[in-house]
Amino acid sequence: MTTIRLPTTSSTPSGSVLGPAPHRTESAGAYRATGGYGAAATGPEELLAHLTDSGLRGRGGAGFPAAVKLRSVRDGGGAPVVVANGEEGEPGSAKDRWLLRARPHLVLDGLVRSAEITGAVRGFVYLSDPAAAASVRRALTEHPPPLPVEVVETAHTYVAGEETAAVRRIDGGPALPTAKPPRPFERGVGGAPTLVSNVETLARIALTAARPDLRRDIAHGTLVTLSGRAAGPVLTEAAYGTSLRDLAERHGSPDATGALMGGLFGGLVDARALDLPLEPAALAAAGTALGCGAIRFLVPGDCPVTTAADAAAHLSAESARQCGVCVSGTGAVGNALHALAAGTAAPDTPDHLQRWATGLRGRGACGLLDAAAGIAGSLLRSFPALVRSHLAAPCPDCAGHAPADGRRRLTVAVPEVAVPPGRIPAPPRPAAGRATGAPRASSPTAIPLPTLKGTP
Ligand code: SF4
Repeated sequence: MTTIRLPTTSSTPSGSVLGPAPHRTESAGAYRATGGYGAAATGPEELLAHLTDSGLRGRGGAGFPAAVKLRSVRDGGGAPVVVANGEEGEPGSAKDRWLLRARPHLVLDGLVRSAEITGAVRGFVYLSDPAAAASVRRALTEHPPPLPVEVVETAHTYVAGEETAAVRRIDGGPALPTAKPPRPFERGVGGAPTLVSNVETLARIALTAARPDLRRDIAHGTLVTLSGRAAGPVLTEAAYGTSLRDLAERHGSPDATGALMGGLFGGLVDARALDLPLEPAALAAAGTALGCGAIRFLVPGDCPVTTAADAAAHLSAESARQCGVCVSGTGAVGNALHALAAGTAAPDTPDHLQRWATGLRGRGACGLLDAAAGIAGSLLRSFPALVRSHLAAPCPDCAGHAPADGRRRLTVAVPEVAVPPGRIPAPPRPAAGRATGAPRASSPTAIPLPTLKGTP
């Protein structure tokens, strides 16, 4: 397994998520020493105003404004619920699991701050990584939060982190998306207005509470997981405005020829796009997206057609098979791209791919089908000559990559984080007589978890 590289950050600014010691789990005391858990520093209304002013956007993929989401849950009435979503499904991303393993207090502080803003009466941390779960349980014992917070585990899949899947799982069902509306902010866990927030978003909310003077820097920085064939994966933090080319050099891919953006969500871009700044609006204008911040760089010898085929194969295998159009659509895109890579595609394959790229969008209950359409469309848009050449003759670069390895090629390992010595506290027992939809918090009957594979 490849160990992900982390920067040594003794000079990390206080508005950074990476923190001073990214290789070991931060204790409550160390977190307090950085200004965390400073209860009276910034009140909920003031913090909401700072978040509005900073323009902080969610870091789970969709990039929705954090303050708007918080306000919607607060104004939804009833007894709101807050959920820290640490279940990252994109195969190229490791930042959320690292964050929960290394800086659980930063996430929990952000969850408590969000509860204060929304008036939430209970919270959950939703994840699949066993090491992250142990880290969060330890942190909850070290510094008990002012509202009940429970850990809910799930199996690691591409769609388990989708917000409605998280709600469904916490309510005792399978971790599968449901049709929208209603969205969780309208009706979520137990029917209550629910904030489902990515753990990096929560970390940035906590940082903003501690250092409101740095709110714009905090909102305009992001964790990125960089990977590719040229070098091992790297988890780092980058300011908006950093060019993709700078990040390629930071990864060890200075001769990058393109990239797979946002995990699988942002599609493929060519070498010209490497001059784009890491900034949501600029990336959107270029037809791509930062998503969860996972970027896989292509280097000479990597064929974008193979990468697209790998991505489509991953999505097809991860389809939750709830929507008929998703089962047939992801399968068709996957088969077509596989045929292109294998040199066996029919002459009209690009036409089919183009039709699916536009026709499949928005037709599934979650974003997986959109991602498959995006992979097909971005390949045609960014590498049209290459697609045509695959119809004329077999591609030597594609021939060098066994399709069976495709999903593994896109998967990165989570960074190793040293756990402090001491016994991990036993999980709390669920309260007796809980209403239907009770969370499976800390349950000894948690679903068995798959092992993550590292990049070759
Ligand atoms: S679009 Fe696909 S992955 Fe998403 S809910 Fe429907 S079947 Fe499942």
